[in-house]
Amino acid sequence: MTPLKQHLIDPEICIRCYTCEMTCALEAITHDDANVVVDAQKCNFCMDCIPVCPTGSIDEWRVVEAPYSLDDQFSWEELPEQADIPDGGEAETGLEALDEGIAALLAEAHAGAGGKAKPPATASKPTVNLYTLSKPATAKVAGTYRLTAEGSDNDVRHIILDFAGLPMPVLEGQSIGIVPPGVAADGTPHLPRLYSISSPRDGERPGFNNLSLTVKREPEGLCSNYICDLSPGDEVQVTGPFGATFLMPNDPDAQLLMICTGTGSAPFRGFTMHRRRENPRNTGKLSLVFGARRAEELPYFGPLAKVPEAFMHKVFAFSRADDAPKSYVQDKLREEPDRTAAMLVDAKTHIYICGLKKMEQGVEEAFADIARRAGLDWRALRDTMREDGRYHLETY
Ligand code: FAD
Repeated sequence: MTPLKQHLIDPEICIRCYTCEMTCALEAITHDDANVVVDAQKCNFCMDCIPVCPTGSIDEWRVVEAPYSLDDQFSWEELPEQADIPDGGEAETGLEALDEGIAALLAEAHAGAGGKAKPPATASKPTVNLYTLSKPATAKVAGTYRLTAEGSDNDVRHIILDFAGLPMPVLEGQSIGIVPPGVAADGTPHLPRLYSISSPRDGERPGFNNLSLTVKREPEGLCSNYICDLSPGDEVQVTGPFGATFLMPNDPDAQLLMICTGTGSAPFRGFTMHRRRENPRNTGKLSLVFGARRAEELPYFGPLAKVPEAFMHKVFAFSRADDAPKSYVQDKLREEPDRTAAMLVDAKTHIYICGLKKMEQGVEEAFADIARRAGLDWRALRDTMREDGRYHLETY
């Protein structure tokens, strides 16, 4: 039997507000005295119910051989774990080992946080590993646009992938794997490359089952060139979603300090769009420090410049601007020491750092200096924040 993805609701977290039920045009969501449940026969994965849920309990998915019935779901006090699905002996092909390689890549990307990363306490529960190398999803390219100036040797593209009827439940901050076609010299499939999702959870275009990526063409790079050369209508093989910690808090009062270079801006585009769609009047809670060589090489510079300052405090650092001295993201943090220190001590602050590995040290040193000047112990602060799920780092 072909495994199915089933949409479920976590009975332990659901507060029985029935907003999802009222939102579902297909009447796929129903309830009894105990639980709110999803009818697998009716749900078409339109995702309309996901953003309206105040707790994230709606964002649950299982791959099943036979769908759980409504009666099964009414009887639950907690969600069943994901069962092992027999998958036709692929274990012998070594594909699982390649999928595990992705977990190792992600762990390495998060290692600079100084300890085990934790998700924000109020983050929605992410779905991970729905699609694997042995059973990837096929997505169609719905659009591909160059983000950096024509003529610049820095080619960064915005790629929109459409999943049609396939469920692809994602949260801002997660990544997907793109499988380059062909095989390696030893005959094994290429390892998928990870790309951060740059759209919010309800899609690049709300109500459509799509997402976007922000991909930089690497010289001689196998997968980045493959992606940057794709045309609308082309099909790509996708694994994931991946990532269970680099997620945004649902708490509307949480303030986010987002620090990035280059394509590290991808998850922060998703964060910002989600906040704007959810709560456009939520002013003063977002800060972005964004580094690139020049303004024309900064992905999303035009749209970002239009985000009102009251909604998001924006600071740009250019390391090769013709008319200004070199400046890096850590320099910009140091230029606003009081603002940065105030954020460090605020229990509502979540720090996110994303982009080039080499930015880690400079940012860490800037935080340490700013903290010291304010009479604070940066290491202790950082470890507390990380333990609270408020310090997140993803570098590659
Ligand atoms: P590969 O073929 O894997 O090559 C790796 C490097 O070696 C490249 O820099 C390439 O230039 C160099 N190289 C390869 N062959 C040669 C050669 N013959 N001569 C000289 N140099 C060579 N990237 C993004 O663009 N956007 C994202 O949002 C993004 N998110 C990520 C999130 C995570 C968690 C991680 C871990 C990585 C992310 N990446 C992202 C990086 C991405 O996964 C790839 O590593 C990147 O696109 C390079 O892959 P590639 O196949 O093109 O290069």
